[in-house]
Amino acid sequence: QRNLSKSNAQFQRALKRLPLGVSSTFRYWGEDRTIYVARGKGGRTWDIDDNCYVDYRLGYGPAILGYADDRVDAAARKGMDVGGVFALSTERELIVADRIAKMVPAAELVRFSNSGTEAVMAALRLARAHTGRESYLLVEGGYHGLFDAAMWQADVEGWQEGGNTDPEVVPYGKGIPPTVRSLVHLTPMNDAQRLEDMFRRHGNDLAAMLIEPIQGNCCSIMANAEYVHLARELCTRYGVMLIIDEVKSGFRVGKGGIQGILGVTPDITTFAKAVANGYPIAIVAGREDVMRSFRYGGASHGGTYTAHSVSLAAADECLRILDETPALETLADYGERLKSGISSILNARGIVHSFSGHPSMFGLFFAPEPPDNYRAWKTSDYSFYDRMAHYLHDLGIICEPDSREPWFMCEAHGTDPTCLADTLRAVET
Ligand code: PMP
Repeated sequence: QRNLSKSNAQFQRALKRLPLGVSSTFRYWGEDRTIYVARGKGGRTWDIDDNCYVDYRLGYGPAILGYADDRVDAAARKGMDVGGVFALSTERELIVADRIAKMVPAAELVRFSNSGTEAVMAALRLARAHTGRESYLLVEGGYHGLFDAAMWQADVEGWQEGGNTDPEVVPYGKGIPPTVRSLVHLTPMNDAQRLEDMFRRHGNDLAAMLIEPIQGNCCSIMANAEYVHLARELCTRYGVMLIIDEVKSGFRVGKGGIQGILGVTPDITTFAKAVANGYPIAIVAGREDVMRSFRYGGASHGGTYTAHSVSLAAADECLRILDETPALETLADYGERLKSGISSILNARGIVHSFSGHPSMFGLFFAPEPPDNYRAWKTSDYSFYDRMAHYLHDLGIICEPDSREPWFMCEAHGTDPTCLADTLRAVET
């Protein structure tokens, strides 16, 4: 059992000034388990009680190379010398945009934002400006950020499976106006028939279909290639913008993202997390004619902090490393070795399990097959996983506590000779 006395005391103090004692509701893990971090380096994090963890959360994915990467941080320091933000542009914007276009062919034109939420907001607006339509289609289980239009989900808990009706479409929590609901459609992942029905009924009214082909908020539920290709075909047929949200998967699962792996070309793509190894920057990119709707008299886009010189310098160096070195192979290979190490331990004890997603961001399930859509995921029993995750925290391994997010790998896990052995020793225990 770890000593968390300093974190526990910090929690009590923080509670007086910060709602739930944290700056993101998801960082609250309960009164006795909310951790305050002192620092991170490579694939490890130290909390203020000096517990050391092999960290598979990596800030929800951004630290693709590892925390405090010397190469990216040196570049970011040089970015400080440039001066931060101006009400003007800098030359490096084009350099970074060229890197992105080289790695992701669908990113013909590029605009910068600050967060995934902002990039998806801009993408949806762009789709509406380009099509002149308002409503949009989301895939159940996807997460696209904090803005009102994105925060709708299928109410699987209140639904009778097996009937003809779909789950109700409900907002994530309070404060989201019900009036937004009339513009939202939801469809289950990997269900071709329902997707076709949806387009038959609403295709001519849709501005966009938003899909996250590896659902990072549902333990990496994967879209199958046929489903994504069908989505592409239907979007083209009905004049709907296909937005692939690669905020988590982009520059992580491969240089060309999940769209490269699935062989599908979206009209618009969003990126964020891995772009700059954790410095705040995001991207909305896409087909030239669509992106040109960002103009006076077209779709409005901007932001005081967009293309900040520190984030941009970090992105330039991070993307260079991802493009020119084997960093992504190193971390995917580590993910494969970790998965097979976990499997050997579980198999030896006869524990049935399976993995979802990609080796760089995988989900672990205690079932013969991982779920392939949100309805199956939401109704599965993951109490065993949750218990295991809590044990692992005590043993110095950080993974998501409630089986929502996948395990994320970084390059430093692969180059640190102790991460794998330490993790497997904890799993064995
Ligand atoms: N889209 C996806 C696929 C995401 O995973 C996230 C963040 N988890 C977002 C959008 C929102 O990004 P941010 O938290 O940077 O606003």
